[in-house]
Amino acid sequence: MKPFEKKIYLSSPTMHGDEIKYVQEAYDTNWMSTVGENINVLESIACEKIGCKHAVALSCGTSALHLAVKLAGVKPGDNVFCTDMTFDATVNPVLYEKANPIFIDTEYDTWNMDPVALEKAFELYPDTKVIVIANLYGTPAKFDEICEIANRHGAIIIEDAAESLGATYKGAQTGTFGTYNAISFNGNKIITGSSGGMLLTDDLDAANKARKWSTQSRENAPWYQHEEVGYNYRMSNVIAGVVRGQFPYLDEHIAQKKAIYERYKEGFKDLPVTMNPYDETIMEPNFWLSCMLINEDGMCKQVRSDNDACYISEPGKSCPTEILETLAKYNAEGRPIWKPMHMQPMYRMNPFVTRDGNGRGRTNAYIAGSGIDVGADIFARGLCLPSDNKMTADEQDIIIEIIKNCFR
Ligand SMILES: *Cc1c(COP(=O)(O)O)cnc(C)c1O
Repeated sequence: MKPFEKKIYLSSPTMHGDEIKYVQEAYDTNWMSTVGENINVLESIACEKIGCKHAVALSCGTSALHLAVKLAGVKPGDNVFCTDMTFDATVNPVLYEKANPIFIDTEYDTWNMDPVALEKAFELYPDTKVIVIANLYGTPAKFDEICEIANRHGAIIIEDAAESLGATYKGAQTGTFGTYNAISFNGNKIITGSSGGMLLTDDLDAANKARKWSTQSRENAPWYQHEEVGYNYRMSNVIAGVVRGQFPYLDEHIAQKKAIYERYKEGFKDLPVTMNPYDETIMEPNFWLSCMLINEDGMCKQVRSDNDACYISEPGKSCPTEILETLAKYNAEGRPIWKPMHMQPMYRMNPFVTRDGNGRGRTNAYIAGSGIDVGADIFARGLCLPSDNKMTADEQDIIIEIIKNCFR
């Protein structure tokens, strides 16, 4: 097989033509700042689609999470329970407020925060009042269990739905399960504005605060009057034009991503692997990224340091490093699973709570398949596959063949 002439991306922007019309409109009417029709319309489109009362358009998902953390009243030194296996943007805003993330281990059913570990965390840190939970790769977390636990302990949920826009859990859209929720329009998300994000909430006061904070916290006065710290976090009306043009195509993108997921699933049925899982009786992911997990007995030897990896290939077996290197050789882009936060050098001293209690202090926290440190296990055996919705079925068949060859 020859390498692809045109690179196959993990997930790249897909434009449709309407975007440029709204950008042009902003240009022609000279609404080139952080005020304008595109922003207003986008906010109402988002509320309608997602089913929330208020949407505040912001510069990115991270700024939405930051304002959510502030709205939740997080203060310096507070403990905050956080998803462990996620992009670090989920957690950075907790640090912006000088609070203390406590990482909650992952479960195998949806690859999200484990409710059993969360309950354990409340035993260990009963005064915790805020939970930041992400929906990994577009699959909703176990919200029945998570919300029940949060309610019982009087904790607020911040939902990081940056990866899961359009996904549903028991018919409700993700981005509605927290008191404050964030979505993202970053360039590789399911729809994009090149950048951008939104804070979603049903609380009018909170939405108004977020609007004020995101525009440098101006008080209502004839001059620039300030009583509290502000941020330059508002979305540009130009970016809003792109997102406005993308929104009508969200469902189409989801259908394409789902077809990619199903094709992989079918293509890999004879390999010792599974796809990123979900409970089809209660949830419909947006299938943002298709991922695979190699069975323990399908793993060849693979060792990772902080900056490097090596492996010994073996007939009938493979590993994420071998597959990612092989894909790259053929000009296709995969990605390791998000390396869990508790394994990151910068969070070395932060607590990590697993199902059976404190995940720190073990001499050997990672034992493949032991279920002791689920995040480390999925990181070791899993990877993200090329999931670009512009990838053709023929191209995907070649990707599948390339991966099958890794196991030969
Ligand atoms: C992309 C992403 C974010 C951040 O969104 P930006 O718009 O890039 O700031 C936050 N959390 C998760 C899980 C993400 O994947």
